[in-house]
Amino acid sequence: MELKELGATGVRLPEIGLGTWQYTGGIEPLRKGLSLGAILIDTAEMYGTEGIVGEAVQGQREQVFLATKVSGNHLRYDEVLLAAEESLRRLRTHYIDLYQVHWPDPSVPIRETMRAMETLVETGKIKYIGVSNFYVQNLEEAQACMTRQKIVSNQVKYNLLQRGIEEDMLPYCQRNHITVIAYSPLAKGELTAGRSLRSRRATAALEKIASQSGKTVAQVALNWCTAKADVIAIPKANGLERVTENCQASGWRLSPKQMEELNRTFR
Ligand code: NAP
Repeated sequence: MELKELGATGVRLPEIGLGTWQYTGGIEPLRKGLSLGAILIDTAEMYGTEGIVGEAVQGQREQVFLATKVSGNHLRYDEVLLAAEESLRRLRTHYIDLYQVHWPDPSVPIRETMRAMETLVETGKIKYIGVSNFYVQNLEEAQACMTRQKIVSNQVKYNLLQRGIEEDMLPYCQRNHITVIAYSPLAKGELTAGRSLRSRRATAALEKIASQSGKTVAQVALNWCTAKADVIAIPKANGLERVTENCQASGWRLSPKQMEELNRTFR
């Protein structure tokens, strides 16, 4: 499993983590992922999966990097602190590695939210501060409110079919040592289902590159994401086989020619 630095923290994370939105696979697929080096697990207070994640990491908490999120409707100072306590309880841990603001709420001053996030770092409840679904302007505003901590990551939608972040978010993050955590890297399964891609040409290109490289379509789609500097992908899979397949999307690289072909086809 290839590793990438989280922001400028010195912490090295696998380029493939384990997503858990709508996850119903129980503890075994998560443990399988951990055993294959995907030691980053992403959850959120609103997913209803913190409990199963907490159970899966029992006995190996120190080896796992737990990322969770405070919902965008809990961004008042006291609400953030309370949400963190509740996540800690459900995760059955004393600290969260990465605590992310799930989405911005323009009705709450971002200064208030980020002050709570800094308090959580200072009290040892969380190690690092991240955000999610933030535009560049949101990120700049949030960072400007903090004097002592850095935002280390932005979790945003990124896959072959949804490449909007390439315009400004991705280059901004790469310039500012902010890790991009790519969610829905398989476009929620659309890329692998092979039926609803935009065109037959796109499906054919993906399948051709998969067979050329001896990889699966899912592995090609994930490797395309993680080939970008500072990008980590967090696919969600309910079963052991798919978790294994997704973890094996790391440790090799698509060739520059294959990357170019995918970029052109999925423009
Ligand atoms: P995704 O990972 O792009 O796709 C998940 C779908 O792909 C599931 O239907 C899964 O099926 C299928 N799949 C997984 N591996 C596969 C493989 N190797 N071959 C074929 N199909 C495969 O979508 P996502 O769940 O939306 O995103 C991943 C994670 O990102 C989430 O779990 C969550 O942690 C995070 N996320 C964050 C936000 C946010 O606002 N921050 C939003 C969405 C998602 P099975 O599970 O049935 O195997």
